Amino acid sequence: MKTKTIYFIAGSQDLYGEEVLKQVAINSQEMANFLDERVPGASISWKCVVRSSEEAEDILVQASADKACIGVIVWMHTFSPAKMWIKGLQRLTKPLLHLHTQHNKALPYDLIDMDFMNLNQSAHGDREFGFICTRLGLNREVVAGYYKNEAVIKRIQRFADVARAMDYSHNLRVAMFGSNMRDVSVTDGDRVESEIRYGWNVNYYGVGDIVTLVNQITEGEVENKMAEYAEKYKMHTADIEAVKEQAKYELAFEKFFKKERVGAFTDTFQDLHGLKQLPGLAVQNVMAKGVGFGPEGDYKTSALMAVLCQMAKGRTGATAFLEDYTYDLTEGEEIELASHMLEVSPVFAADQPRVEVHPLGIGGKEPPARLVFDGIEGKGIAVSMVDMGTHFRLICADIQLVKAPKEMPKLPVAKVMWKILPDFASGAERWIYAGGAHHAVVSTALTKEDIALFAKLTNTELVVIS
Ligand code: MN
Repeated sequence: MKTKTIYFIAGSQDLYGEEVLKQVAINSQEMANFLDERVPGASISWKCVVRSSEEAEDILVQASADKACIGVIVWMHTFSPAKMWIKGLQRLTKPLLHLHTQHNKALPYDLIDMDFMNLNQSAHGDREFGFICTRLGLNREVVAGYYKNEAVIKRIQRFADVARAMDYSHNLRVAMFGSNMRDVSVTDGDRVESEIRYGWNVNYYGVGDIVTLVNQITEGEVENKMAEYAEKYKMHTADIEAVKEQAKYELAFEKFFKKERVGAFTDTFQDLHGLKQLPGLAVQNVMAKGVGFGPEGDYKTSALMAVLCQMAKGRTGATAFLEDYTYDLTEGEEIELASHMLEVSPVFAADQPRVEVHPLGIGGKEPPARLVFDGIEGKGIAVSMVDMGTHFRLICADIQLVKAPKEMPKLPVAKVMWKILPDFASGAERWIYAGGAHHAVVSTALTKEDIALFAKLTNTELVVIS
């Protein structure tokens, strides 16, 4: 994560003389170095003290052009007349964090004089800078507080995570094997707008492109993949040939992703020509590596999953696609079973997943190998993205993942259960009013504050249900 950089820029002007500007540089470097040590999500790199319109434009153009730069932190050590920031900010394309802080923590009451006040006037300068950002209509993050406060560091870390996810999003390529499932509405969307707003380059490929690769997989490659499965999972089937079939699918996906630089994909069981099984185990194992996935041609959920996995990098917790399926509606104890036919990521497994082979019940294909397990418990969020026609909307709901109250011996899929918050009726009704999908990215690593920051910085409408 440290290969990505956030520029740290201090604002000032020429009015104060060389001595003061030297001190501004020393102090701001010290602060940038401190934050760099405390924030694992990106390198925080001190760049310069901006004194003029030309310098502001130069450094913000440089930040915008630098592919390693994922964001910019700006702080006014002294007063910095903000007209000098206009042209630079107009050309800034990276996420902006305005840090409202000071080099000194407490006031040196006994010693404070005019020189000290001249040097340390962010209360003055940051308001001037804030005005021009607001006047320009910039979606930025403002963080106020002493820069060594844990709460401030935490918010800068969040900014680093979200900025890194946005950078990843900007470069994300999504492969759709087959198209959107016939007649399904919520999974569909405007792929041009997705690329304009989030950078997602979403392209259709014939499933035959995967079949060709599947048919070229060697026995040796399959053995290696089977060894990977055996190391991670319990083999709980006599039908090893069915498992090998999934191993071939995964190997074919991996080759395709590498060649086409793909970070997220979709499939649809309506278009499996040339594949004997619906990809199950193959998709599950790939998802656990942070590759985005959406079933039924759901490219939005797939891309969102890849982006949120990047955001969650370095944190503890699970992040992946999940699908709403069926309920226990016992009054006051309502629980949802979120369990797709097959494609549940093993990141949600409470114990070691078992590889099993069973008929699917729909689709008319051979019984697919899949991972079977019970889900983890804990606090989480469910995030859904829908296309409203005029704009995209994110819906983010707090959920509580819970243990299944009873065994389900006749349901051979992965089973993740959660309680909708604050209570079933309020949570589910709001989700439905908001147009939330039956597909979501669920995370126990991210919070609604992370999603809110992502929504703000990408200028996306957000509905929070908490
Ligand atoms: Mn669905």
